[in-house]
Amino acid sequence: MDPHNLPEIPYPDSSTPGSGTSTPSLPAGSLTLPWLYLLWVGLVWISAYFNQSYISSDGVAILLGGAATTNAFFVGLARGLSRQTFSEDDIAVAQSTIAIAWIAAYTYFSAESGELVLGMYMTVMTFAIFRLDTWAFLKISIFAGLSYVVAVGLQWAANPLAVDLWQSAFRLLLLQAVMIWGLIYARQLRELRNQLQFRNEELQSMIARVSKIAAQDHLTKSFNRRYIMEALAREKARSDRTGKTFSVAIFDLDHFKSVNDKYGHLIGDQILLEFAKRVKGEFRAMDTVDPGEFKRSFGRFGGEEFIAVLPTTNLEGAFQCADRIRASISERMFIDLMTITVSAGVAQYRAGETIPEILTRADQALYGAKQNGRNQVHCAGLDLIADSHTVPNLRILS
Ligand code: GH3
Ligand code: MG
Ligand code: MG
Repeated sequence: MDPHNLPEIPYPDSSTPGSGTSTPSLPAGSLTLPWLYLLWVGLVWISAYFNQSYISSDGVAILLGGAATTNAFFVGLARGLSRQTFSEDDIAVAQSTIAIAWIAAYTYFSAESGELVLGMYMTVMTFAIFRLDTWAFLKISIFAGLSYVVAVGLQWAANPLAVDLWQSAFRLLLLQAVMIWGLIYARQLRELRNQLQFRNEELQSMIARVSKIAAQDHLTKSFNRRYIMEALAREKARSDRTGKTFSVAIFDLDHFKSVNDKYGHLIGDQILLEFAKRVKGEFRAMDTVDPGEFKRSFGRFGGEEFIAVLPTTNLEGAFQCADRIRASISERMFIDLMTITVSAGVAQYRAGETIPEILTRADQALYGAKQNGRNQVHCAGLDLIADSHTVPNLRILS
């Protein structure tokens, strides 16, 4: 694998879990209205069957066709056809308006079905209360009242004997009374809904923050040991499942005790932080492709020891990666113009071995690098070695 083509690594200081932007989605209740259509078609059928209302066959055809088309439209919308084009409020207004238009059509085509019509209007208003702001709900309420007046008016014009105007006026009054009641509560419900939404978002970002803190080493802002052990377990499981290999690299700063002795612990701390920053920078510089699921992890294992988990990377790739880091650390001065060097041991996962086993092999390679003079990378198993004199060529020891 080309180490210059490695995927991006998520670092605690550069990526926040769960902070991605969410795609707008249809409100959870948007699909309830189609079911309500079915409910009302059923009730209309029952009431017609028991002669409680009357509707012409033309009316039935138009209403069923219309309801089916409307349902198909919103199911299509819910599947994501136009999510980017319409806001949730737009969709709710459209749904309510279309539903009211169908109720008005039913009112016109049917006779003696006042209770059904009232029930239908109230169902739509209940739907609208939870989704619209006060002003939009008021407009929908006025539209509902007007649609009822127009439907009954047209019915009366066509057949004055079939309509009891007083009864219709009373139903209109009832409808308007319920809507005014709804208006009073619409604002409160909306506020409650917004509050819930806000709390939920707050909770999500809190969870993201807490998981970030739980995975972070407080001093170096790289991953901590716990996270790295989890990353190793994940990588091992994936490798066992897919057969894709992975490698680990353990880095240990050279003669760090004397750096502390000479400059003090605070400067030592700053160097650790700077070291982690540079390593992360090096990893980023190597990454040119979308990491997909193969994200590398780099973190502090303890003290002045760090570890990198390198998915889909064989020993040679891991060596090149670690040696590039080693070289860049030794080439650039740290604070106070001091030079720091680092040694590393890398090991490629052997199918079936345990995590302590691969770590022990990488640690032994690191020990070899220290024994051999430091500022170099050793590989477990293959005896690959490179130091400041041999880079970038690999020297294979017999
Ligand atoms: P070697 O090249 O063999 O690794 O030598 P070394 O001096 O780096 O190794 P040794 O294990 O003897 O010492 C590690 C030192 O790292 C000792 C300790 O003071 C220092 N150290 C460990 N953790 C921290 C830390 O959090 N901050 C600072 N400033 N120093 C630390
Ligand atoms: Mg050390
Ligand atoms: Mg050490």
